[in-house]
Amino acid sequence: MQQYDVVVIGGGPGGYVAAIKAGQLGLKTACVEMRGTLGGTCLNVGCIPSKALLTSSHHFHDAKHHFADHGIQVGEVTMDISKMLDAKAKTVQGLTGGIEHLLKKHKVDYFVGKGSLSGPNGVSVALNAGGSESLETKNIIIATGSEVTPLPPVPVDNAGGKIVDSTGALDISKVPTSMAVIGGGVIGLEMGSVWSRLGSKVTVIEFMDRLCPAMDQELTKKFQTTLKKQGFNFKLKTKVVKSEVNGDSVAITTEPSSGGDQVTENYDVVLVATGRRPYTTGLGLENLGIQTDRLGRIEVDSHFRTAVPSIYAIGDCIDGPMLAHKAEEEGIAAVETIAGFAGHVNYDAIPGVIYTFPEVASVGKTEEELKEANVEYNKGTFPFAANSRARANATGNSEGFVKILADKKTDKILGVHIMGPNAGEMIAEGVLGMEYGASSEDVARTCHAHPTLSEAFKEACMDAYDKPIHF
Ligand code: FAD
Repeated sequence: MQQYDVVVIGGGPGGYVAAIKAGQLGLKTACVEMRGTLGGTCLNVGCIPSKALLTSSHHFHDAKHHFADHGIQVGEVTMDISKMLDAKAKTVQGLTGGIEHLLKKHKVDYFVGKGSLSGPNGVSVALNAGGSESLETKNIIIATGSEVTPLPPVPVDNAGGKIVDSTGALDISKVPTSMAVIGGGVIGLEMGSVWSRLGSKVTVIEFMDRLCPAMDQELTKKFQTTLKKQGFNFKLKTKVVKSEVNGDSVAITTEPSSGGDQVTENYDVVLVATGRRPYTTGLGLENLGIQTDRLGRIEVDSHFRTAVPSIYAIGDCIDGPMLAHKAEEEGIAAVETIAGFAGHVNYDAIPGVIYTFPEVASVGKTEEELKEANVEYNKGTFPFAANSRARANATGNSEGFVKILADKKTDKILGVHIMGPNAGEMIAEGVLGMEYGASSEDVARTCHAHPTLSEAFKEACMDAYDKPIHF
């Protein structure tokens, strides 16, 4: 029997980061992962492959539609989909291999197999190669992540390639003529963008009356208009009730969310992107009295401890936004707690990014949330159309704005919402500011290099506490 300080079940961004941190703190650590590669959903079928396709399709779209604006003549632009998929696979392979190297470097034992709880201090591993291992450990961290939530009227068959989920959408081998994306959330809009840029006519079918409902509404409205200009078709307040694969096409029947007449339309490919749910199958939580909530999330206290004090849970399998960086922060905090330090995650400063073009990024409170909580605030905005770097970059690069929400009395930044080029990078300035309790004036008086997109951030802060210069 192997003896450990920490055994982590799951090798995604929550699990492998926790394992590395534990190794760095000198704890004897093992990481159990059943996929056969490390990196979890994020590296294998999530964040990274989707961004690889977003980058490739963006280059294609730029070459086809925008190079000529700069005087660049390239003749007929075509896309070799299999090469694009190869490039994506290479990126994933390189990064997952890199994590295996990092585990070795930090002396973390890596077990390839399915882990389950054999007791408060025991993990049993059914090895993929056959046989099993019993691990004895002082602490266990569950980081088993999430899986696609099925949508009963639209059963996914990734192998068939007609009705796919986000994993199947990463491997479509031919550009569909038309694509229905069921679900107007982050994953649907990102994957829809990939195939739209490559030539698909994409229709987003969303039950609610707007896209990404948790997002700041001013941003959502602008975002939807922009996607529409790019060729997206939206069917909001619409419910999918039936699907039928008929040879080369899929018939999707919808009705208004509030009930009414049904309509059937045919699509080449259908992407189901209606959400994800925690994955805890086969862990044996129930044998130890570890509770899950109504959405299947493992219940933990503020230190990520379950009802069994030696067992912790982090990442997508607990409450909170299903994001890789949130899982990583929790992994580090849980390990620091185990090692006797003060592990902590500030949930008010977790950014969210949509990697479309332009990108959309947010951190902190939305205007709707502040109104709801009766918090008085100042609002500063600055459009990228007035930012010199955005204007110099390329046609279409100056769409969007930065919006800062700051407390009316203290000027402390409470929320940042950006739609624009590189918004996903720029949001880090807002996160850092919020972590350190910055006021909008603090940021406005911080020198920003010229010409940069981040000057728009500074000017939005100027607008929040006084006046911008360039607008
Ligand atoms: P996971 O990454 O799901 O990892 C859990 C791992 O545990 C899995 O590899 C699984 O095989 C393993 N496992 C499960 N049970 C067991 C067991 N019993 N024994 C052994 N191993 C087990 N997030 C972002 O922040 N940015 C993005 O841009 C982004 N893009 C995304 C795009 C797509 C298409 C998808 C699907 C997701 C995206 N996400 C993104 C979400 C992100 O992938 C998840 O939030 C993140 O992976 C969660 O990390 P985790 O470690 O909690 O779980």
